[in-house]
Amino acid sequence: MSAVLETEGLRKTYRSRRRGVRHALDGFDMRVEAGQVHGFLGPNGSGKTTTLRTLLGLIRPDGGRMAILGQEVPEALPTVAGQVGAIVESPQFFPNFTARDTLSLLAEAGEVPRQRIDEVLELVGLRDRAGERVKTYSLGMKQRLAVASALLKNPRLLILDEPANGLDPGGIREMRTLMRNLAESGMTVVLSSHILGEIQLICDSVTIISLGRRVAFGPVGEVLAQHSTGGLRVRLE
Ligand code: ATP
Repeated sequence: MSAVLETEGLRKTYRSRRRGVRHALDGFDMRVEAGQVHGFLGPNGSGKTTTLRTLLGLIRPDGGRMAILGQEVPEALPTVAGQVGAIVESPQFFPNFTARDTLSLLAEAGEVPRQRIDEVLELVGLRDRAGERVKTYSLGMKQRLAVASALLKNPRLLILDEPANGLDPGGIREMRTLMRNLAESGMTVVLSSHILGEIQLICDSVTIISLGRRVAFGPVGEVLAQHSTGGLRVRLE
């Protein structure tokens, strides 16, 4: 199987007067195969957001290498950008816009054919509510609208930072169904979380990060069994 996303020895140090020196990524390795829903699990401050933002070219690493869809980044980002959908910060929607208005605006800006709007609304389960204003949506619906916006370009790889954050169990189950459907359609999904139960419910495989280093990876069942028997020395919740 080919890797859709790969990092090797990734390093990033933040230096600020207020917080001092932080080694956010300290030789971080990650490998995600095609067609998986891959969980990126680690406690708060372990380096998940830094990794995802670095992969997307939003942060410059201090060392290491990265590749997306087999091509080195950041050099190849202009080439692969159209095949990557990402949400790495809470999207801000106009509350008085409907979901359809919101996606129409984004589709127009991204030169996406209008028929794709109905396809993504269907995929995220919002087609019936597409004419309602976003301000009437639950948190779960807003998160799914965010995913819909990242799906407009029909990406091969979808990267989501904490998409289940704050969702109730019903919202997490809906997110799971959505992720499974996307993977079945051939898409690879990488999603971060600091909550073990979310990853357990949603993902096939997982990478666990702690203090900027990979501490475990593999099929979710195997890795979490190792964790529950005490073989994995990392606090996850
Ligand atoms: P969370 O789930 O809380 O977002 P995370 O796993 O995504 O955590 P990061 O946000 O990547 O972790 O942070 C990794 C480390 O780098 C933390 O110690 C954090 O305090 C530090 N850090 C992140 N951004 C900055 C910054 N802009 N300046 C200084 N330190 C930073």
